[in-house]
Parts: sequence; C-alpha cells; structure tokens
Amino acid sequence: MVLLKYNFGILIKNNLLPMNQKIRVRFAPSPTGSLHLGGARTALYNYAFARHYDGKFILRVEDTDTERSSEDSQRQQLEELRWLGLEWDEGPDIGGEFAPYKQSLRTEYYHRIVKQLFDKGLAYYCFLSDAEIERLREQSRQWQSPYRSLDAKSALARVERGDAYTVRFKLPDEVVRFDVADLVRGDVSLSTEGLTDFVLLRAGGMPVYNFCCVCDDHMMQISHVFRGEEHLPNTLKQLILYHALGWDAPKFGHLSVIVNADRKKLSKRDGAVSVGSFREEGYLAEGILNGIALLGWSHPEAKEIFSLADLIKHFDGKRLGAASAFFDREKMAWTNQEHIKTMDPSNLWRLLQPYVNHLELPSDKDWPMELLKVYQTELVTLSDAADLFEPFSKSHFKICDTVMPIFDWEKTAQLLEAWLECLKTNDSDDFFAEFIARMSKDGIKGKFLFMPLRAAIIGKLQGAEMKSLVTLLPKQELTRRCNLLIEAHNEVS
Ligand code: GLU
Repeated sequence: MVLLKYNFGILIKNNLLPMNQKIRVRFAPSPTGSLHLGGARTALYNYAFARHYDGKFILRVEDTDTERSSEDSQRQQLEELRWLGLEWDEGPDIGGEFAPYKQSLRTEYYHRIVKQLFDKGLAYYCFLSDAEIERLREQSRQWQSPYRSLDAKSALARVERGDAYTVRFKLPDEVVRFDVADLVRGDVSLSTEGLTDFVLLRAGGMPVYNFCCVCDDHMMQISHVFRGEEHLPNTLKQLILYHALGWDAPKFGHLSVIVNADRKKLSKRDGAVSVGSFREEGYLAEGILNGIALLGWSHPEAKEIFSLADLIKHFDGKRLGAASAFFDREKMAWTNQEHIKTMDPSNLWRLLQPYVNHLELPSDKDWPMELLKVYQTELVTLSDAADLFEPFSKSHFKICDTVMPIFDWEKTAQLLEAWLECLKTNDSDDFFAEFIARMSKDGIKGKFLFMPLRAAIIGKLQGAEMKSLVTLLPKQELTRRCNLLIEAHNEVS
C-alpha cells in the first residue's frame, strides 16, 4: 500500500496562512436547476472566506452534463447569487485572467491534459458498450475494463476505424490511501480500494466533472475548496488525478450535510428549498444569508443574528462543524424577522412595494413611516405586508355579511352615531381612547362596544388591533367606512 499524506488545513487551523499564499476559492454550480439553500451556503462560505482573507472569489459554471444543463438555469443561478450579494471577482459573465469560466467552452484545454495522461501511460481508450459494462458490474463491484491492458497501437487502430470509445484513467495497480487533513472534518482517510478505472472523456469527447474540476482548479490557481460532504468520493478521484499530473492539490473542506427534522438530507421533498422560493415569499437576502450561515458554522460570540460584513470579519475557516446541520424553517423565519426589524424603514418601504402595490393606501407623504413604526416588527417576511396592510386599503374595504347581527343589539346605532360625531369633532391625538372611555361611561362595553366598532373600521368582526389602525387611517376614511356600514344595514333591513 502506498501512503500519501496530504496535510491540508494545518496552516488554516493554526491561523498561519503564509503571507504569500494567495487565497482563491470558487463556487462551481452546475446549471441544472435552481440555486438551492445548500448551494447558496457553499457559495456563501467560499465568498466569506475569500473576503476575510482579502482573496478572490471565482464563479465557474460546470456544465459538462449537457443533457441537464441549461442557459436559463445558469442565468437564474447567477441572478440569485447576485441578489444575495455574493459578487464574484472572476466569472463567466465578467471574465478574468483564466477565462472562460464555463466548462463547455474549455474542452480543448481538457483534451490537452488528457493527452498528458496518455503520454504518461495513465489513460486508455475503452471500447466497452453500456451493456458490457453492466455485465461486468454484475459480476463484480470491483470490475476493471479489459481494455486497460490493450496495447496503444491496437487501441488507436480501433479509434481510427471509428469505434465508439471512452477514455478512462488507469488507476495504480496497488491500493493507494490518501490521509487528508480536511479543513472541516479533520483527518480523513480515502482509499482507492475497490475503485474502477474512471472515465475522463465520455463517448463523443465530452470530459467528465471530476476531470474538468481538477484541470480548472489547478489552472485557476484555486487554493481552497469548500464543498458539500457528498463530494468526498469525488475528492478521492481528484486527489488521484492531482497526483498523476504532478500538481499540488488545493486544501479541501467538506461541509456538513443539511438535514430536515427526520435527519434526512434536505431535498425538494421538504418543500421549497430554493433561494428563489424564499425570495418570492419575501425573505430578505440578509435573512437568508444569516440563516444558512448557521447551517454548519457558529459565530465566535454565539450571535444568532449578524450581517454579512460581520460574518466576513469572523469567517476564517475555523468554526465550521462536521455534524449534520438541521434546517429549521421556523428559525429561518425568525432570523428573517429579526433582520426586517432592524432595517432602515424607507428602505423597507421600497422593498415592500411589490407586495402592496395592489392596495390603495393613504397617500400622505409621512404615512408609510408612521405605518412602519407600528408594523415593522410584525413582518416575518415582506409578503406579510399584503394581509397586514389590507385594512388600510380604501379599495379593499368591504362590509362582511357576518357583521349584520350587531344591529340586533340595542345600543349599536347610538354607538355608531357617537363614533361619527367623535371623528368629526375630536381633534385630540387620544380621540380613540377618549371615545372608548366615554362609551364605557354610557354603559356600552365589551363585545357591544368593540364588535360594532371593528365592523365600522375594518368591515368584519375579527382582525387587526384597532388602536393602531385608527391612528393610521385618515378620519375622513374612517367616516366613510362607518357610513358604508350604516348604509349596508339600511339596505338589508
Ligand atoms: N459542480 C459541482 C456541483 O454542483 C461542484 C463541485 C465542486 O465544488 O467541486 O455539485
């Protein structure tokens, strides 16, 4: 057995990054769907790490799976990353020293590296059909292609004849073990035992992810790779390739898996887990970032709520945990609410517009700020504003039929009349409290007071707290509503 020691991470763990080591990290999404929370977390950690060490954050599109990749998905993922505020320094849309940053545009380069492997005797043409592979796999999980020992001349003759082929990497005959100091998991041992010679180029010449990833990470001078735990088997293959090509490997950190309440890997089955769906629901980018930052990392001061700038300040790669991270939707919502609470109100008002522009709200210039003084803390997501602010909408006010029984009560008419009078004559800031006090003195209390009043203000018997509503609705509108209630009753009686 050959033992290869890769003491990754030691420098980081002791916070002894050499001054001359350029930090270059990347996020390498496959454009095969939308950006999910797990992907966004990987992007965030790499981004924060780069910014913490004044390094570079690179975006690379890994689209070698031509069937599943799409331009639309790429556009959407880039847009969402940008919306989150995770701006990259080099990428497919902005270029950079190592452009292009999209694997389908780099095939020539990969083919050159394949040639190097052929020259070293570490790659070979394989002419197995899918059915033959299936048969070999059924016979033994530790199968190898019989073409690994075919002489180069015969193989080339078949290629020239036009036979379909893939190119496989030739694993060492001996089992190789890599002892890796993972940035997140500590010592990890990876072995080639039982591994089949893996494909480098598919039929048709398209290279596979593991191979492209190594070529690109090397060429783009990537220093550290933070990615999901599910990539550990890929890391083994990639380490073998680095070794075969005589290249230094980057330092790896495999992030904890994100799980649901059943301790199963978080997936689409757990409902909407894409960044886009949280965004649509009215989550703030800051809320999402803060929420996902805590899925595998902890703040040194045990803070639960922090900004991206604060995360960057502390994100040195040390406080990453290997234990599964539980994704708690309620905690995510709470985190978002805490971020909304501390937002600048005029900024918040701007972000709320798409959710409330169907409402006909009072047009007074100061009104939005007065409204937010009362309601900002109640918004869990931006979309909550639609229901919360609806009582203020002139065009949305309607009298529910269910309110009519209030007119069977002896003192309702008297109360409504007094309310109209109060709106007309009482200019005090406390007019509502004064009105309640007066009614109580007149013996109108409890449900006989509050239900008709609520009907006159919001048109229904249950709902928003009136104390804040009345101060935020112009008196004229309150009067209009009360009159509409009386008219509605007259029509039915
Ligand atoms: N394209 C890979 C993925 O989306 C990235 C793997 C890596 O970071 O090396 O999972």
